[in-house]
Amino acid sequence: MDLKRTEYRVACLCCGHEMGDEGYPLGCPECGKPGLIRADYAKKQIEFGPADMGLYRFADWLPVKRALVGSGAPVTYKSEGFAAELGLTDLWITFNGWWPEKGAHMKTGAFKECEAYSVCGRMGEDFTDTLVVASAGNTARAFARVCSDNNIPLVLCVPEENIDALWFDTKLNDCVKLYCTPSGTDYFDAISLSNQICSLEGFSPEGGAKNIARRDGMATTVLSAAEAMGAIPEYYFQAVGSGTGAIAAWEAVKRLQKDGRFGSNGMKLMVSQNKPFTLIYDSWKAGSRDLVALDDDEARKQAEAVIGKVLTNRKPPYSLTGGLFDALTDTKGDVLAVTNEEASQAGELFKESEGNDISPAAAVAVASLIQAVEEGSVPKDGRIMLNITGGGMERFMNEHNMHFLQPVHIFGKNPSDDEVKKVILG
Ligand SMILES: [Zn+2]
Repeated sequence: MDLKRTEYRVACLCCGHEMGDEGYPLGCPECGKPGLIRADYAKKQIEFGPADMGLYRFADWLPVKRALVGSGAPVTYKSEGFAAELGLTDLWITFNGWWPEKGAHMKTGAFKECEAYSVCGRMGEDFTDTLVVASAGNTARAFARVCSDNNIPLVLCVPEENIDALWFDTKLNDCVKLYCTPSGTDYFDAISLSNQICSLEGFSPEGGAKNIARRDGMATTVLSAAEAMGAIPEYYFQAVGSGTGAIAAWEAVKRLQKDGRFGSNGMKLMVSQNKPFTLIYDSWKAGSRDLVALDDDEARKQAEAVIGKVLTNRKPPYSLTGGLFDALTDTKGDVLAVTNEEASQAGELFKESEGNDISPAAAVAVASLIQAVEEGSVPKDGRIMLNITGGGMERFMNEHNMHFLQPVHIFGKNPSDDEVKKVILG
């Protein structure tokens, strides 16, 4: 697919230093402070491309050099069934996942695809390293799909217990290699392994929230909503683990305000977590820019107890400049928390009233909207965007034959750098 290279500069949110995107920076080389860098696009009014461009229909505001094959884009429609259940008159659903009748074609079922197609599109032909991604599952599945379809070398680090999340409708290309940490380990052990691999020559980290392509890829959810609604939403509901999607949503609104055609209102971030894992909720309610202290063992237990497993990030980009604390503060937002039972019921209600299955994390967001309506913290006629971050997975798996990615190697606990080097370089 042809894509005119997007024009943009990158700026540090701490010191204002401006730079080009050569070398794909993840931070500011000038001040070195813990803050995000942000893309500043030359085009201030976005032109939406045709649907067959997939995610790249938003390329005016994506830091990409090339368009990769196989992407889907978020789609936004006005809710009737679920809105009626809640008595809401202006509820819009942004759907990320598999729902062909609505124009939603994400084959890995979640909005991690928005990140993956944007991150890999940012890297041009000059990027010759192997990309390294650590994930508890969803992110790995999205990157594996993109890299396999586009022949991009990829190393995935995933805990062994999570590899059932690596399902695909085709067998993957050999350029995707899976390495596991052993059973009894979690996402943070996978990160630690990925750091060891990235210290080797020729391997580069994807960068997480610090990667402008990752955030601007997720920001397309809000661009899709503004396009469909003809306006910036007043309220934004999403369940969060790292909160990167919510930071991205806030950044999208800043660009839409400057665009001028979608109104100038702010958008209140209403983000949610799954009890008992409530690190972001607790920190926000304590009025604290610093995350509240969290005991590792206690956190692991809490993470095991929730159905929204992807919402259990222990080191979210919350405190740093331009992070989630700043986003919530600037939008006068709030954090909600719901139980497993509330989320399950909300997921069922969504399926009955809208007609598709949604992921447990998306169900947490739906439950938080129900809670906010019951408490009266959103008006019934409020212009609301509900970000369904994953859906249609059950349906996709039923409609397709599944192939599971198998690990090349399963490491023991805490492998030495030498051992990692030997296994990876062979
Ligand atoms: Zn700086």
